[in-house]
Amino acid sequence: MSLALKALVLSRQSYPGWSHITKCLLTCSRATVFLEDFIKPFHLHSTWLKCQQLRFVHSSLSVGFEDKGSVNSTFSFADYDVIGFDLDHTIAKYKLLPTFELVWSILADFLVKNRNYPPSLCQTPVVSTDFLSKGLIVDKARGNFLKLSHDHSIVRASHGTTRMTSDEIRHIYGTNRIWEPVMNLADRLCYQNQIQPFFVFKDNFVIAPALTCAQIVDALDKEQGKSSICYDFWKDVYDGFMYMFQRDAFIKQVGGYFPAIQRDISTYINPCDTNLRKWLDDLHSKKKTYLLTGSNVDYASYLAEFCLGPKWKDKFDLIITYACKPGFFIANRPFLNLDGINETSVVKEGLQPGRIYSQGNWQELHTFFAQLVGKSKPKILYIGDSVLEDVFAPSKFTSCESVAVVQEIVSEESSGLLTSEMWGSYFSDCLSDGEKSENTLWADLIMKHSQIAIPDLESVTSFPVDQRYPSFKNGPNGFFPKLPKMF
Ligand SMILES: [Mg+2]
Repeated sequence: MSLALKALVLSRQSYPGWSHITKCLLTCSRATVFLEDFIKPFHLHSTWLKCQQLRFVHSSLSVGFEDKGSVNSTFSFADYDVIGFDLDHTIAKYKLLPTFELVWSILADFLVKNRNYPPSLCQTPVVSTDFLSKGLIVDKARGNFLKLSHDHSIVRASHGTTRMTSDEIRHIYGTNRIWEPVMNLADRLCYQNQIQPFFVFKDNFVIAPALTCAQIVDALDKEQGKSSICYDFWKDVYDGFMYMFQRDAFIKQVGGYFPAIQRDISTYINPCDTNLRKWLDDLHSKKKTYLLTGSNVDYASYLAEFCLGPKWKDKFDLIITYACKPGFFIANRPFLNLDGINETSVVKEGLQPGRIYSQGNWQELHTFFAQLVGKSKPKILYIGDSVLEDVFAPSKFTSCESVAVVQEIVSEESSGLLTSEMWGSYFSDCLSDGEKSENTLWADLIMKHSQIAIPDLESVTSFPVDQRYPSFKNGPNGFFPKLPKMF
């Protein structure tokens, strides 16, 4: 056995059936452990990593099968008729530090030059702070930043960039540490039509602006020599967002953000690797696939071509741009035809395979794929990084199931850009030292509303499409390829 494995490992680069080998190994946990030990001296790190992943699958699957006794407690892409993808921060992997620095500097510059904020706002760069953390919520009027537990209680908070004590939190938000406007936060955000007293820095596009807002509070407090009773900076930050991300900013080359990306896209984004491209092709040969992105058609096309190559459209049966999530999964906004980058007319004759559309709604998408696969209730999956838009909304309002893309699964392993001592783990936290850790709101939503969570698509592309993974139907084992450090 050892000779055969040695030959196999050494010829791995040229051996076309690596996916079949991994599949076979899944039938034998001991073989996986053996292979892991065996290849260590050969310094084949990626292969060793794969073995670690396989061992995780093994241990989790064996737990799952003992508990539930069926594959129903596991997940496989092969279980679905139709599989969809988000684009930004899912297929398109941004390089976080340059992207954060870009967004932070444009916003700070806009506020100083156009809204008369103090120049100090531009002086503390992103990389030198410990403030960056996904999922913070700003209490706009008080200038406070909140981290919520699964029951919506405030587990940590800051005023500006200064961490608040437990006593300060209780003094402002009550002994139960609850701020009523953020109760049932996910539902409120899906239904919101009115301006809320809070804003959620929910994804990678707005992590750096959270720092800008906190620095505004610091600067205003310093100017006045004390905290304000009521802050009024949010409308200016909102104007800054509009300046950067307005819908026609890419085509008009304004707002700073899109021009910078277009000037030097490889500084900000990684093209998809060969494995991911092949996996998408393999998936497309077996299943129906779609791309569903919030980006406007001009930027989405530019980004997709950079990431997937000039034939990117061939990888999908349908492409929907400017989808306006989470509304896509909730409302009944019509699909619009496109002439180049211009929206022309409402789609009345039904969607056509291979086309690109703008806006739209889940119900029509479902009808289209039901006809395409010849089933009245096709099983449809969506893979995306926004917990609210890509995971919670489809789960809550449609039959669409989801895979959550959560970089923090691996990024919290080491100190880095997405690790903050001030804010602690994205997944779990405790109210005070010595108390039991509880899941955060975000970990809770991920585990309740997605099938599995992965740090990136590359985590699954070296496995065959019909690979089975432990799912959240068995508790936290749905995190792949490993449990977050805090669990
Ligand atoms: Mg996204």
